[in-house]
Formats: sequence, structure tokens, C-alpha cells
Amino acid sequence: MSEHGTYPDPDRRTRTRFAPSPTGLLHIGNLRTALFNALLARRDGGDFVLRIEDTDAERSRAEHVHQLCEDLQWLGLDWQEGPGVEGPCAPYAQSARQAVYDEYFAQLEAADQAYPCFCTQQELERARQAQRAAGKAPRYPGTCANLTRAERQARLERGLRPTLRFRVPGGRTVAFDDRVRGTQRFATDDLGDFIIRRADGTPAFFFSNAVDDALMGITHVLRGEDHVTNTPRQLLLLEALGLAAPAYGHISMITGADGAPLSKRNGSRAVSELRDAGFLPEAVVNHLARLGHVYEDHRLLDLDALADDFALERLGRAPARFDPEQLQHWQREAVQALSAERMAAWMRAAAGDALPADREAAFAAAVRDNVRFPEDVRRWCAVLLGDAWEPDASGRAWLRDAGPAFFQAAARAHGDWQAVTAAVKAATGRKGKSLFMPLRVALTGLAHGPELPAVHALLGEEEARRRFRRAAELAAGDDQ
Ligand code: GLU
Repeated sequence: MSEHGTYPDPDRRTRTRFAPSPTGLLHIGNLRTALFNALLARRDGGDFVLRIEDTDAERSRAEHVHQLCEDLQWLGLDWQEGPGVEGPCAPYAQSARQAVYDEYFAQLEAADQAYPCFCTQQELERARQAQRAAGKAPRYPGTCANLTRAERQARLERGLRPTLRFRVPGGRTVAFDDRVRGTQRFATDDLGDFIIRRADGTPAFFFSNAVDDALMGITHVLRGEDHVTNTPRQLLLLEALGLAAPAYGHISMITGADGAPLSKRNGSRAVSELRDAGFLPEAVVNHLARLGHVYEDHRLLDLDALADDFALERLGRAPARFDPEQLQHWQREAVQALSAERMAAWMRAAAGDALPADREAAFAAAVRDNVRFPEDVRRWCAVLLGDAWEPDASGRAWLRDAGPAFFQAAARAHGDWQAVTAAVKAATGRKGKSLFMPLRVALTGLAHGPELPAVHALLGEEEARRRFRRAAELAAGDDQ
């Protein structure tokens, strides 16, 4: 009997996982996989497990683990078990689970379901070339499958370090119900015996990934469709080990706007890059949740609402297109949906000292519909609270059009915005656009921007008058 038992949950409560290999930054594609798994667990009140697949010691980095944990937390994708959250299946980093894998390797070897393979890279390559030349799909030709004990011993004595191969049972069909793509069938004769332990003793992906899913009681695995051909191998392994297999669903890949697989070149971004660019987590989550999953509700949804409407049946099989425009749309929605408190914190983080605490509320009220990114906050801060008043060509045209007397009238007016506009209207007879555009340019230097009553309230009467006087000078100067 196994010393490392299977996950003890008679109810088979939904348990999903995200199992990144920490060899680089978390990108949009992987993040979407994490999100779907997190939403499924959340919907069912189950667990979302974070497992670090760091068996490739050379390429795995602790800083990547740290960064991806930070990325997931930033997005609100908390895990119920995993790094920093101990649970019944610890440890959650595969590099710390070698003893588990050794036990299962031994089990397979004892049952002759796995055998040591001494083939060198060159030998394997030669075999592949010969198969290709004969028009066959390359797969392991079984060179070491039936070595005698003495033959194995002789090779070990020559100093060869074997890998361990799983003996794929011949003549069978492995079928599984892919929760996204429907029934999948694979002939075992096409698979070839595959490596489950590398020569250095560490497990190959197929093995540790499948064993851990079983031992951690994972009920559903949603992962990229590039893994679909791994699944029959993993099902055979689990069967040989007497371990329960999860349900698998292979989700469509994400493409760039050009239809090619998403990559750096056509728009993929690291999660940390999106954060640094000022995207809000809600925006990222709302866009990704709709990449390959259909939501009927087109409003900005929080994680609970996204989880409630998440359904495996709504995962599409066609590739999903990453669309930067959509991400911008969700960013706009996310900013507008911020609570007053979070809006203030967001603006403070963006503007720093340029936004004094006592002006925060009035500033937020004035510009909240005009900002999408921290740089917009900084720009409006400079325009409305600083001295970045510099009309462009079209602004100057409006100033000239209104003429100095218009602004002198505005500068003489006292009271709130209504009083100012009434006074200018009375003095100049202007109304509508020809009244408001010069006033807008006078207060902001710009022809577009926030609602003027709020701008006026934020500036205060005195500063507003100062700006009207400057506008009057500029209008006069330009007239000459
Ligand atoms: N470590 C694998 C990867 O990052 C996990 C694949 C899976 O989800 O099963 O591709």
C-alpha cells in the first residue's frame, strides 16, 4: 500500500489547481488558465490549489515563484492550498516531493510497468530519423523494453545512467470525455513508451503532474489544448498506479489580433507588465474571463459574479482572440466602477504629492470619467492643480474667437459656476458652444475634458479668475 495516500475526500468536492512551471513571468495565456480553474472552484465552493511544477531545477527560479504568487494575489485569485498556505497535501512544490515520486516509480518498476532505458540522445535521434524516412510517426522503438537483468546490469556497470520509461500497453484505445472538446480517443499503439523519470532521477512532466493531481484530490483539470495529447499518457499512468484521474478539459488557445498564437510579438504581455502599465485587476480579469468563455452579462463583473456564471459548457473550442481594445474597454469600466475610497487610493498612488489630501475628493469628482490610467491622473493633476496650462492651436483659436472682453467679464464674476456663466452670457450675449468652449479652454487649456462645474469647484474662484485673466491676456496678445 502506498505511504502517500490519495486525498481523503469521500464527497469529491470540486478541487482545481493551477500548476505553473516557474521558468518565466506569468503571461496572459497561463493567467487565463489559472482564472478558469479558480472560477470553477469558487463557483462550487471548492478549493483552488496552487502547485509549483519546478522539477526542472535548471530553468526554475524562486523569483518566478514569488512573482507569480504576487501576480495571482494582485488579481484576487487566492489559493486555498499552496505556497504560503499549508494544507493536507503539502508540500506544494514538486521539487520537495521527490520521495513521493520515488515510491510510485518503485511501484511501477516492481510490476514491470516501467523499465530503465539506456538509449543515448544520438540513438534516439537515429531511430526517429529512420522512422520518418519510412513515413512513420516517430516514437520510441522499444530498444530497451525487454533487456534481461544481466543486460541492464552490464549497462549500469559501463556507467550509463538510465531514464525510466513507462510500458504503454499495446492494442488499446484510451478514450476520455474532454469537458471542452468532447470525447477524445487515442490508440495506445501510437504513443510509444515514454520517459517518466529523467536520468538524474527527477520526474518527467507526465508523471509528477498526473501523480500530484491524483494525490491532491484534483477533480477537474482545465489546461491549454497543447496538453491534449499528454492526457492519454497520463490516464494510462494513473490507471497503472491505481490512482483516480481528474476530469480534463482542454481550452482553446489564445491568438493575437493577427490570428497567430499569442506571443510577445503580437500582443502577449506579462501580468506584471499590465500592472505596471496601470491596468486594474478587475479589467484584466474581465477581459480574460471572456476569452474563450461566453458570458451573457456584458457588465463589469466581480470574481463572485464571474464564478456564478462560469460553466464548462460555455468554454469555446475555437481559438480566442486577445484584443487590446477590449482590455481598454474593461479598464474604462473598471475605473468607473471604483468605490470612492479605492478611486482616491488609486489617484493618490498615481499622483503622489501633486494631489494634496484636502483636494482629493473634489479632484476625483471632477476627473473620474476622464481618467483611464495613472498617467491620465497625473496629466489632469498637472492641468487642474498645477501649472500645466498651455492651450494648443485649437484652444488658442477659441480664445481669439471669444476675445479679451469675454474673459475680463468672466474674471469679474463672483460666485459659483452658474453665476460665472450667467455673468459672461449677460456681458457677451454668447450661449451654447461659443460660451462654453472658450470658458473650458480658459480653465484647462484644452478643448476636451471634465464637466466644467466640477472643474470650477475644484479650482476655486480665485484660481479660476486668475486663469480667466491669463486667457484675456492671451486672447488680446493673439489679436495683435
Ligand atoms: N506545468 C505545466 C505547464 O505549465 C502544467 C500543465 C497542466 O496544467 O497540467 O504547462
